[in-house]
Amino acid sequence: MIITFDSNITHQDATVKALEALLRENNISYSSYMAPLSGGPRLEYQIVSSVEVPLQETIVSTLGGRAELCPHHSPFPRVGIHPNGERFAFEYNGVRFDDNTFNLFPGLCAVDSEDSAIKMMQACQAEGLDCTRMGAFKPRTSPYSFQGLGAECLPYVFEAAGKYGIKVIAMEVLEAADIERIDRILEGTGRPTGVMLQIGTRNCQNVSLLKAVGSQQTYPVLLKRGFGISLHESLFAAEHIAAAGNCQVVFCLRGLKSIGAAPHRNLVDFGHVSTVKRLTRLGVCADPSHSAGARAPDNCGISDIQHVSAQAVIAGANMILVDFHPDPSKALCDGHQALSVEQLPRFVQDMHLCRETFIKRCKISEQ
Ligand code: PEP
Ligand code: MN
Repeated sequence: MIITFDSNITHQDATVKALEALLRENNISYSSYMAPLSGGPRLEYQIVSSVEVPLQETIVSTLGGRAELCPHHSPFPRVGIHPNGERFAFEYNGVRFDDNTFNLFPGLCAVDSEDSAIKMMQACQAEGLDCTRMGAFKPRTSPYSFQGLGAECLPYVFEAAGKYGIKVIAMEVLEAADIERIDRILEGTGRPTGVMLQIGTRNCQNVSLLKAVGSQQTYPVLLKRGFGISLHESLFAAEHIAAAGNCQVVFCLRGLKSIGAAPHRNLVDFGHVSTVKRLTRLGVCADPSHSAGARAPDNCGISDIQHVSAQAVIAGANMILVDFHPDPSKALCDGHQALSVEQLPRFVQDMHLCRETFIKRCKISEQ
């Protein structure tokens, strides 16, 4: 059972204290957290019970109409959708993440030089974009591949972001210490930008890392689905982050490992955009680069990467994380799937067209 209090109700409120007293007296265990909802953060109480929560009527009368009750819940109590359909929404460093927003995160799979980072951010700024991706800590399949520049690139990446108006950088973390490294260097450079901590597909079931990003409130989290596990299992990863205290999570589809995917890198799973929205309160991102992984153009000059991005956006994705590079042939990581920065203006125009189309599609279904 989840109890969502009305806005502005805090732990100090008499109704909340009465609820806690009732639960304690009856040995009903509970926990509380802030749910980032569209009207602002709201206090929620979670009661985990294998049987039907006892005293439901007494709980309802204690709440005095100052909270909504979600009695029968999904396996994901914190991130699961409520009957009222309300979704998570938050603002981070001036960028809003909710179901009515659409954020593009084109950027470097891996930072390989200061020059690439600057050119990428200049290209984003020229398109009026204030988000990018910049990989510093890279989980490479081969130990002999470029492993990312690590913390050493962070000072110039953060400073350039401030200079070119980038407010949020999606950046993967491989261990809890990476969060501290990012935090220390952001602080040292005067916080010129913000970071969305990315959990890569390989770490989707790394419970200690999920708990590490979940037990801090400074940075929102972009969680990639696991490439070889079910959607439900990946959603449990989101629940782990929320259960540790951080509900500012966006869920990212990035394709599944399958021989059926060839010649794509992974089997595109963007049919799950609407499924994740139906099952959870999370915003949904799609990563066309790590899923399709093919930038060869079709007879209209549009790459598979751009086509699958369009498919995700037209289905309601709230965010696109996509690899670009000033010179893909020289990129030290995943250059084969990076689009060139010259292609960014066309890509952005196409994504906006798809977003508008999605909004029109919703209007048609409301008729
Ligand atoms: C990435 O986005 O850089 C990445 C490694 O993606 P994934 O974890 O989806 O493979
Ligand atoms: Mn990559």
